[in-house]
Amino acid sequence: MIDIKAIRSQFPILDQKVNGHPLVYLDNAATSQKPLGVIDALRNYYLESNANVHRGIHTLSQIATEQMEAARKKVQRFIGARHDHEVIFTKGTTEGINLIAYALTPLISEGDEIIVSHLEHHSNIVPWQMLCERTGAVLRVIPMDGNGVLQLDFLEKILNEKTKIVSVNQVSNALGVINPIEEIIAMTRRLSSAWVVIDGAQSVPHFKIDVQSMDCDFFVFSGHKMYAPMGTGILYGKEAVLEKIHPFHGGGEMIHTCSFEKTTYAALPFRLEAGTPNVGGNIALGAAVDFIESVGHSFIQEHEEALLAKAQKQLSEIGGLKIYAEKAPRTGVVSFTIEGAGIASDAGMILDKMGIAVRTGHHCTQPIMDFFNIAGTVRASFAVYNTLEEIDVLTEGVRKAKRMLL
Ligand SMILES: *Cc1c(COP(=O)(O)O)cnc(C)c1O
Repeated sequence: MIDIKAIRSQFPILDQKVNGHPLVYLDNAATSQKPLGVIDALRNYYLESNANVHRGIHTLSQIATEQMEAARKKVQRFIGARHDHEVIFTKGTTEGINLIAYALTPLISEGDEIIVSHLEHHSNIVPWQMLCERTGAVLRVIPMDGNGVLQLDFLEKILNEKTKIVSVNQVSNALGVINPIEEIIAMTRRLSSAWVVIDGAQSVPHFKIDVQSMDCDFFVFSGHKMYAPMGTGILYGKEAVLEKIHPFHGGGEMIHTCSFEKTTYAALPFRLEAGTPNVGGNIALGAAVDFIESVGHSFIQEHEEALLAKAQKQLSEIGGLKIYAEKAPRTGVVSFTIEGAGIASDAGMILDKMGIAVRTGHHCTQPIMDFFNIAGTVRASFAVYNTLEEIDVLTEGVRKAKRMLL
């Protein structure tokens, strides 16, 4: 039996008052709070072993290198990758997707097709539009229905031999919808030879990931949404695919030999990690993996399902709320508007006065907002340290916001 109090005690930031009320932090889809284990890992690195990695033969440099490579191995195990050199440190999902889009550029030609879904974050749209501009490739979109469910019969129609990349998220940050990526990947394999990119920014904090059984070519996520420091992230790629792609950044750490006539590149993973990495952050990302594993995926999933079910039930009982994608399989997020109550940020400000942190707006997913013909939603998003009592506070807060705004 896992005790939420014991989990919360690892997050001292939660134990404070905001605007005179106990903080209820429900903006975890934007960034999660960090447990002491992560903060200590970062602090200990700077207190005891700060040095640049891979370059020095001195002791601190060796320790820093060993600690960072140990974190890489932890991530490898955490996501089920075959090799540790398939795990590339980045500064987040955005950098990961841009890296892929640049690295694949020489392999994309005019008239090739790239498929994303209507449920994507801007960072899984814009890098592909830029790739299309560079190459003359065409961007196509898997549509969704009114429940926020992707229409796979349409994907089946648009997949063909010109499809080079299919890039979708496993979980939508704006609505919390869990996408059927197993079916999307199987269909893509059957009907094309495209590379599959999975944006796992919102799934890694909630689910056990196994990139080998998933059979994606790339899997990207951010550290900061899974209890790790800001400015950390992971790009996983299958060895055979990473061997084939062009480096994204050129610079130190990524060369084998360098002369003015010709430079040869280092082996994986360093070929894709130019420059000095975020050593302390990457080590602390390993500590975030330790935290998640210490709590356990089954507890995380069970508890977060209970939070979502309670929020869904209580918010819909208020009446006059439109909850988006409420019939779709979801995790971690309730996204709603109060009907007739103007813009979402008004409700967000009232909730903040009560110490409740939610996000309002378009959540970097304007195409989803356009689909529903709204400017934004109020989004409450959960992490393992949230309590069922906090859902009561949220419900009361929304009830009050509705009274004030109507
Ligand atoms: C947050 C998020 C991103 C972007 O992540 P950054 O950490 O800002 O780089 C991309 N996709 C999804 C689904 C997200 O939730």
